[in-house]
Amino acid sequence: MFDLTARVAIVTGGNGGIGLGMARGLARAGARVVVAARNSDKADVAVRELSALGPPAVAIRTDVTVEHSVAELVDEVERRFGRLDILVNNAGINIRGSIQELSLAQWNDVLSTNLSSAFLCARAAYPLMKRQRGGKVINVGSMLSIFGASFAPAYGASKGGIVQLTKSLAVAWAPDAIQVNAVLPGWIDTELTQAGRRQIPGLSERVVARTPAGRWGTPNEFEGIAVFLASPASDFITGAAIPVDGGYSTMV
Ligand code: NDP
Repeated sequence: MFDLTARVAIVTGGNGGIGLGMARGLARAGARVVVAARNSDKADVAVRELSALGPPAVAIRTDVTVEHSVAELVDEVERRFGRLDILVNNAGINIRGSIQELSLAQWNDVLSTNLSSAFLCARAAYPLMKRQRGGKVINVGSMLSIFGASFAPAYGASKGGIVQLTKSLAVAWAPDAIQVNAVLPGWIDTELTQAGRRQIPGLSERVVARTPAGRWGTPNEFEGIAVFLASPASDFITGAAIPVDGGYSTMV
């Protein structure tokens, strides 16, 4: 039920953090992982690690904010492997600051990296998945898909949008047997949050106090949900937004 042998998976931002955590799960379950990110040095390290866990992984340098870069990614995957079964839209950035401090360029940067990228990648992947009569799209949201935060208005808007995009794609593509779901991470120890932990005194302790599990999450805790949502085990689940948050979203 959880076997991904012979499946091909693109993981955007799969060269580190949560994306690499998800990629590890997919590789261990037998999938060939394509790491799509900008930093080739990090991607090469990730590819070596993933290839030791499963079938040989590859890196295709991609900027998910650029339409032709995404098109080239999917074309290259089709050319090399002839199929695409799993798309993980994980690439993301955050620019902290109040709405008054945010420039339009910063707003656009966050929206295009976190939200428009998922539209571009899913749109490019659809013809292959439709032709194969099935596929899995996993979008990465956030606790800010649910809650508001004064310090990250663009990020919150992008992550709220990810959930609504997930639902729209799920409805549109259910007849093609393509399931589209979202994963909503709580506070996870990655490069993205390490900067915040350094800059904001007390953040680390506040996260621990606010999270019922009493700790930060780790990237390897995304292996299981990635395999579940990429495998036949979730074939009747679509349009869902599943928190992976140590209980954060259930506690007032
Ligand atoms: P990281 O900073 O560790 O990883 C972000 C990844 O996105 C990197 O691999 C980066 O690769 C990639 N990326 C960024 N911009 C682009 C781009 N333009 N094109 C291609 N790839 C890009 O952060 P996390 O692992 O923490 O974040 C992963 C996802 O999880 C994000 O969507 C984030 O919003 C979400 N998330 C994280 C939480 C956390 O607590 N850590 C909480 C909730 C959600 P490169 O720079 O090489 O391009």
